[in-house]
Amino acid sequence: MAMETRKLEISYGDKHVLKEIDFKVENGQIVTIIGPNGSGKTTLIKALSRYIKAQSGDIYLRGKDIYSIPTKEIAKEMAILPQVKHVSADITIETLVAYGRYPHLRFGQRMGKEDKDIVDWAIERTGLKELRGRYIGQLSGGESQRCWIAMALAQNPRVLILDEPTTYLDISYQLEVLELVRELNQSLGITVIMVLHDLNQAARYSDKIYVLKEGRIRQYGSPEIIIEKRLLEEVFRIEPHIYQDKVNGCPYFIPHKII
Ligand code: ADP
Repeated sequence: MAMETRKLEISYGDKHVLKEIDFKVENGQIVTIIGPNGSGKTTLIKALSRYIKAQSGDIYLRGKDIYSIPTKEIAKEMAILPQVKHVSADITIETLVAYGRYPHLRFGQRMGKEDKDIVDWAIERTGLKELRGRYIGQLSGGESQRCWIAMALAQNPRVLILDEPTTYLDISYQLEVLELVRELNQSLGITVIMVLHDLNQAARYSDKIYVLKEGRIRQYGSPEIIIEKRLLEEVFRIEPHIYQDKVNGCPYFIPHKII
C-alpha cells in the first residue's frame, strides 16, 4: 500500500470536516478524490501531505506512520503540488526544478553531477528543455504547471500528490497536464493521488476514485462504479446521462439538469 488512512478525523476549531476516513491507495495507481465544494477534498490532501495534523486516526506512507517519519525523508518519498504556490517570479525554470533536489542534499551541500542529471532529466521529461532559462513569471498556465511537475519529479518521489492540477487551465492544457501525469505514472510507476473537479476527466484518468460528501467517503471504486446515475444525483445534485467513450473505453456523462 502506498498510502493509507485509518479512521482519520479532522476539525478546524469546532468544525468537524473529515469523519472516519479510511482511504487506501495501492502502489502504482492513480487515485482521484472528487466531491462537491466544501466536502473536504483539500483537507484530506493536506492531511496526507502532513500540512495539517489529524485530531485522531492514523496516516501511513508505505506502511509507516507519517508523523514518525522525518520531514526530509518524507520529501524523498512524496512530492506535493499544492493548489496555491508561492515562489518568486524572477527565478528560472531550471532554478525551480533544482529545488526538488534539496531533500536529497545534506545541509550546505551543493548539487553534484547526479543531481544535475536528474534536474536535466526532469526538465526533458516535462518538455521544458527549450524553456529552461525562462523566468517563472513569463510562463503560460500550462507551462507553469509542467514546471512544478518537473520540480516534483526532480524529487524522485514514489508518490505524487496534486491538488486540482488543472484549475485555471484551458482545455488543451488540462489534457496536457493529465496526459503527463499518466505518462509518469505508467513509465516510472509513480503513485498519483489527486483532486479533480471535472468528473469526466477523473473517470478517464483514474484507476480508482473516492467520492467525498460532507466529510465522509460516500463511495469508492473504479470509474464504472462512480459514474452512476443515483450516486451523481445524490452527491452532485445533477441528472446525468451516461455514455461510454468508444476511444478510451471509460464512462462519461452529460449533466442534463439540476435536481
Ligand atoms: P473542498 O476541497 O472539498 O472544497 P475543503 O477541504 O477546502 O473542501 O473544506 C472543507 C470544509 O472545511 C469547508 O466547509 C471549509 O469551509 C472548511 N475549511 C477549510 N479550511 C478551513 C480553515 N483553515 N479553517 C476553517 N474552516 C476551513
